[in-house]
Amino acid sequence: MHIGLTLTVLGTVTPYPQPDQPCSGYLITGPGSAILVDAGPGTFAELQRYLDPRRLSAIWISHMHPDHAGDLPAVANWLLNSTPPAIPPLLIYGPAGWLERLSAFLPSDPWLLADRVQAHELTDGHITQVGELLLTSYAVQHSVPSFGLRITDGQHVLAYSGDSGPCEALTTLARHADLFLCEAGAAEGNSLERPSHCTPEDAARMAQQASATQLLLTHLSPEVDTPTARQQAQATHPNVGVARRGGVYRLG
Ligand SMILES: [Zn+2]
Repeated sequence: MHIGLTLTVLGTVTPYPQPDQPCSGYLITGPGSAILVDAGPGTFAELQRYLDPRRLSAIWISHMHPDHAGDLPAVANWLLNSTPPAIPPLLIYGPAGWLERLSAFLPSDPWLLADRVQAHELTDGHITQVGELLLTSYAVQHSVPSFGLRITDGQHVLAYSGDSGPCEALTTLARHADLFLCEAGAAEGNSLERPSHCTPEDAARMAQQASATQLLLTHLSPEVDTPTARQQAQATHPNVGVARRGGVYRLG
């Protein structure tokens, strides 16, 4: 059995997918569990490079913006078209109302989907155990209800910002994290994007205040290129990477 936590980056881009560049989605695996964290457009196909989706333990959705949740209909189509059902009802966590919104999108009887998923709604401080992993969700600062996530196997901590501007919840969820995957969807000087997103500098400041060991920037504003984002964050945090599709990060 695999020990420790592994993050595989399925996609990072915003606001829409591009060739070979899915939107936000991350596969996080730990002892006996595999969790899809955010399901932006293109990520469900990308996931299948790494994992038979029947082995998914859960899906966790930060918020209902299309670049994070747009592949839920693809997941639903997989669940609805697997005969007999691919797996026992799939655990899916998301903001209030996510199942209704997904059901409204589908042409099929919504009750059929309800049979295929075990739906849960997130609240601030929501805690759940998936396999050996403990997941704690925190309400973060965004233009719609949005959550960040702290995942631990008891030894290692992986934190994810979801989409969020700088806020206390980010430093709480990333406290002493081994790896803090933090969005940087805002560009310095673009006041429209703030306070709903972090700039690379904001992400670095959050990571520094949280004493996170490594900062992995993701979801960069299309206005900021990778070397610039890294450089801007490195002025505040000593250990900065930038997530890219296919990147694999092992903790432990
Ligand atoms: Zn986003």
